[in-house]
Amino acid sequence: MPRIHLPIVILLAAPSAVAFAQDTARVPAVDAVAQLVTRLELERYKATIKGLTQFGDRRQGTARNRAAVDWIEQQLRSYGCSDVSRFTYDFQVPPPRAPGQRPDSAQRPPRDTVRGAGGSRYRGIRTRTGVNNDSLRQPDAALRKLNAEPSTSGERQEVYCTKVGATHPEEMYIIGAHMDGIGWGEAANDDGSGTAIVLELARIFSSADVQTERSIRFALWNNEETGLNGARAYVAQRQALQGKEDPAGSGRYPEPKWLGMIQHDMMLFDHGMPRPDGSLSPEQRPEADVNIEFQSSSKFAEGAQRLAWTFQQANEKYATDYPASVGAHMTNTDSGPFQDLVAAISLRENERGAQIGAGWDPNWHQPTDRYVTYSDKDFRLGLNAAQTTLAAIAQLAGATIK
Ligand SMILES: [Zn+2]
Repeated sequence: MPRIHLPIVILLAAPSAVAFAQDTARVPAVDAVAQLVTRLELERYKATIKGLTQFGDRRQGTARNRAAVDWIEQQLRSYGCSDVSRFTYDFQVPPPRAPGQRPDSAQRPPRDTVRGAGGSRYRGIRTRTGVNNDSLRQPDAALRKLNAEPSTSGERQEVYCTKVGATHPEEMYIIGAHMDGIGWGEAANDDGSGTAIVLELARIFSSADVQTERSIRFALWNNEETGLNGARAYVAQRQALQGKEDPAGSGRYPEPKWLGMIQHDMMLFDHGMPRPDGSLSPEQRPEADVNIEFQSSSKFAEGAQRLAWTFQQANEKYATDYPASVGAHMTNTDSGPFQDLVAAISLRENERGAQIGAGWDPNWHQPTDRYVTYSDKDFRLGLNAAQTTLAAIAQLAGATIK
C-alpha cells in the first residue's frame, strides 16, 4: 500500500530536516566551539594524569588522598578558576569482613548470570573481575610503600570550582570525576583519566578570554570507590540550596540550579571483548568508542537521554579520532546520586554494566592501573572524551571567545 506508506515517511522525515536546517543556521562564521576544542592537547592531558599518579592510588581517608585534593586545588587556582571551594563531609569506614566471607577476586568463579549492573545484559565472552586488596601483588616496592597507609574514618573533603555564567549565574552544568582510587596501583585510568578531563576543561573554560552564559561547576568527587559517598554527601547537603541568591541582592549563587550532571569515569582502555582464553588485545581497538550512558529507569530518563544525544552529536562534529555511542544503563558512578533530580549521564571507555562488568578492562582496580600501562592510543580515547564534553558543554552553556 505505497499510497498510505509514502506520506508517513515524509511526515517522519520533515521535523528532523527542519531541525537540521536550524542547526546549520545557528553555526556562526567563526566557530568558538571548534577553537576551544583545539586548546585540548594530548601531551597536557597525559601530564595531568601523570601528576595525579604521584599520589599513588589516592585511597580515601589517607594522607596521600588529602595531598591529592591539595594538588587538585592548586591546579584549579593556577588555571584562574574562580570560587574554588572545599566541600566537607564525614565518612565512617565499614568494619572489614571476616575471612572467608568475601573470596579474593582471583579465586572467585565467574558469575553465571546474563544480567549485568544497571539493567544491562552480558553477551559473548566474560572474564573475572574484582578488586585487588593484596599489597604484595604490587611488584614496585616504592609504590607499595606509597599506598601502604590504610583508610581511617572521619572528615573528608573534595574540591570544586565554578565558571560563573555571565547572563545566567543562577544555573549550572556539573562536570565531574572521582579523584580517589583503589587496587594498589596508581588509579591512572580509574579515575585519573576522568579527573584529568575535568581539570583540563576547568583550565580551558577559566581562560580570561572565554565567557559562558550559564555557569559550569568542575567537581572532583572523593569516596567514589566506597559507594559514591562523596557525591551522595554533596547531593544531601546542597540540593536544597539550588538557585538561591546568597546574600540576597548580591548576584551570587553558591549553588546554581542544576541543569545536568556529567560524570567521567575510566576513559582510556577499549581493547575489545576478552578472547576465549581470557586474554585481551594488547592494543586499543581501532573501532574504540566513547560510551555515553544514561539510566533508563531514572526519573529524569527523558532529559538524560536528550543530553546523551547532544553529547553524541558534539562528538560527531568535534572529536578528532574516536566516535561515541549512547547506552541506557548508566550505573555505579557519581552521576547516580543525581539521576532522579536532574538529567545525568556518564562518559566511559566502555559500558559499565555489560562490558567493564564482563572483564573488558583487565587493569580495573588492579596493581597494573599505572600510567606506564597505557599507550598514546589509549590516552587519545580519553582526549576524545574531553573533546566531546568540552564541545557539548560549550554549546549548552553558551560559550564565546572575546
Ligand atoms: Zn571509577
